[in-house]
Amino acid sequence: MELDRRACLQAGLAAAALPVLRVIPVQATGTFVHEIAPGVFVHRGQHAVFSPENAGDISNPGFIVGSDAVAVIDTGGSPVVGRNLKQAIEAVTSRPVRYVINTHMHPDHVFGNAAFATDGVVFAGHHKLERGLTARADRYLAINSVLLGPRVFEGTKIIAPSLNFDGTGTLDLGSRKLELTAHPTAHTDNDLSVKDTTTGTVFMGDLLFVEHIPTIDGSIKGWLALLDRVAQDPPVRVVPGHGPPALTWADAATPLHRYLSTVATDVRALIKQGKTLSEATETAGQSEKDAWVLFEEYHKRNVTAAFAELEWE
Ligand SMILES: [Zn+2]
Repeated sequence: MELDRRACLQAGLAAAALPVLRVIPVQATGTFVHEIAPGVFVHRGQHAVFSPENAGDISNPGFIVGSDAVAVIDTGGSPVVGRNLKQAIEAVTSRPVRYVINTHMHPDHVFGNAAFATDGVVFAGHHKLERGLTARADRYLAINSVLLGPRVFEGTKIIAPSLNFDGTGTLDLGSRKLELTAHPTAHTDNDLSVKDTTTGTVFMGDLLFVEHIPTIDGSIKGWLALLDRVAQDPPVRVVPGHGPPALTWADAATPLHRYLSTVATDVRALIKQGKTLSEATETAGQSEKDAWVLFEEYHKRNVTAAFAELEWE
């Protein structure tokens, strides 16, 4: 039953995704990337928690090809995913990778970095990314070595950015400019989005979750405010951190905004009624249960985070 519901959910939402130009198979690994706009490629990760079987392939890394160089945006959750992505890049272009941009600190987005750590590659991120990674390095490494097992985890390294963004900045790939925006606290305190100015595509990292339940590791109020801000002048095409490789802003942001508003509204009402955190985790946001994959795995943690933030309003 559960699987049926999830299959229907994914099929229904996938139908709303923007068309894909071509799919690039990678023979040796069976992984592939979708070309969602000319020169813009995305690998679609699974909706799952880390396991040896999925090798941490549970988020959406991608890359953009300019006339001189390539920028990689996130690298997946293990060196295995990073190497698969590298192979996919080599199947598409002989131009070198110049930048690896990390959208935020979470292991499923940065633990493939080691596969790209060679001379001439510059790692870029939000100016708070290094601090976030350093504070959590020991915990992230310990947890992932257990969840992924030694074979997949081998070679994992935390690589902090050497190019840091505060506000907005530009990277040039040759006849192609990327605009990077470091955001105020939302999904985390180090979220960075990447806009390909040539096609108007914006990689939003985990500022957008589609199908996969969002996870709050920053500020529910900040996240809702960000969604409202971006909606004023929405991108033509977005890549979420989890979900289909390309969508319109409305298709990607509407369910996420509804989830976050529902949790915030329910938690505020429960706090007002004098309910405890443990009571709140049982009831707040339960109307969203059937709308998301991995709801059981993350929803209570989201309510806990929202409660801690909103009880001091
Ligand atoms: Zn994340």
